[in-house]
Amino acid sequence: MPFLALGLNPLLLKATKELGYTDPTPVQAGAIPPALEGRDVLATAQTGTGKTAAFLLPIMHRLLLQPRKGIRVVVISPTRELAEQIETAAKGFAAHTDLKSTLVVGGRPIGAQERAIQAGPDIVVATPGRLLDHMNSLGAKFAGAAVLVLDEADSMLDMGFLPDVKRIVKKLPGRRQTLLFSATMPPTIANLAAELLKNPVTVQIGKRTATAVGITQAAYPVPAHLKNALLRHLLRSTEMPSILVFTRTKHAARKLAKQVATDGFTVAELHSNRTPSQRSSAMAGFKKGDCQVMVATNIAARGLDVAHVTHVISTDVPDVPEDYVHRIGRTGRAGATGDAFILVSPDEEASLARIERQVGQRLPRVTLPDFDYQQLAPKPVAAPAPRGGGGRPKAAGRGNPPPRRR
Ligand code: AMP
Repeated sequence: MPFLALGLNPLLLKATKELGYTDPTPVQAGAIPPALEGRDVLATAQTGTGKTAAFLLPIMHRLLLQPRKGIRVVVISPTRELAEQIETAAKGFAAHTDLKSTLVVGGRPIGAQERAIQAGPDIVVATPGRLLDHMNSLGAKFAGAAVLVLDEADSMLDMGFLPDVKRIVKKLPGRRQTLLFSATMPPTIANLAAELLKNPVTVQIGKRTATAVGITQAAYPVPAHLKNALLRHLLRSTEMPSILVFTRTKHAARKLAKQVATDGFTVAELHSNRTPSQRSSAMAGFKKGDCQVMVATNIAARGLDVAHVTHVISTDVPDVPEDYVHRIGRTGRAGATGDAFILVSPDEEASLARIERQVGQRLPRVTLPDFDYQQLAPKPVAAPAPRGGGGRPKAAGRGNPPPRRR
């Protein structure tokens, strides 16, 4: 089915055509028709499936049918990065219309945001905390916001935003259209949906916990103390044009980023110890391809859309399987292919088994023939180095190390 068949406003179709969209993705084909009718929608879709257009296009179509009257749509996203992406998409779709949108996220000057809200844009894309701040002081401006979108609702709940979301909803008109998008549908989200949505149309794309098609997954068993060494070995010895590496903590992210930079790679860091401007420039650098490697904590797993990510490497095994699904969804975007590797220490096998149950497959175990799994093992200080058994780290690729890529 081509986009034309959806009956969207020609000005929006023109923009989608310019963006290279010819056919709607499955979530778009499922969500756009009921949303155009003003129905509530509850969509479970794999990450990278085109969710943003699935809610923005029908909403914008309906906005174009009404007179302008200040803020009419509020889109809530769990992270600044995702909110920025959504707002950029909104501007792109609105290119041939007079619809206006604004971004309201934490870590940015509040005065400029207040002025933007006062000006009455049609669409506000926001993170929950900062939106509430503005609603507390400028509540009247939101009185006409009769469309609410909750994007990546499962992440929003994981991040503890449920109370804020409920407060926001109370300040919006009771008669409204609500669209809830979530990568996964745990019972907490189903309950929230039952509370917020009226007679919703349910759109479910693929298996509820499925990972995007096109992603090849593999597990690399390795002792915990050799994880960084194995990762660096992988980076040096494998062709990986654009790599997103996840660590459990910001401290680990920082340390690993330094090590990888020492190896000659261009690296960006994304975690909550970085300032908003550092986070923005890390994202921009990675998106533009200036940085080959991005080292991040889970914050980047939420909704990050970088079309060219070829490899996602997790250096820890998330306790919550959904976190793993989010992480690897950062590659294989919009039908592309990608590799997702996870480094697993012996004490993480149980968590990996939970993930395997969730994604419905056993990940192949990969052992690298030219990596010395005995190296750097803690030894008594005075013990002599074993002969011929590989006491020292070996260089990658033996003999002919591959050139380092930037
Ligand atoms: P999203 O899941 O909304 O983050 O979208 C993932 C990526 O797919 C984005 O880069 C979109 O621009 C792209 N995309 C969304 N819908 C389409 C479509 N119908 N045709 C081609 N690309 C699309």
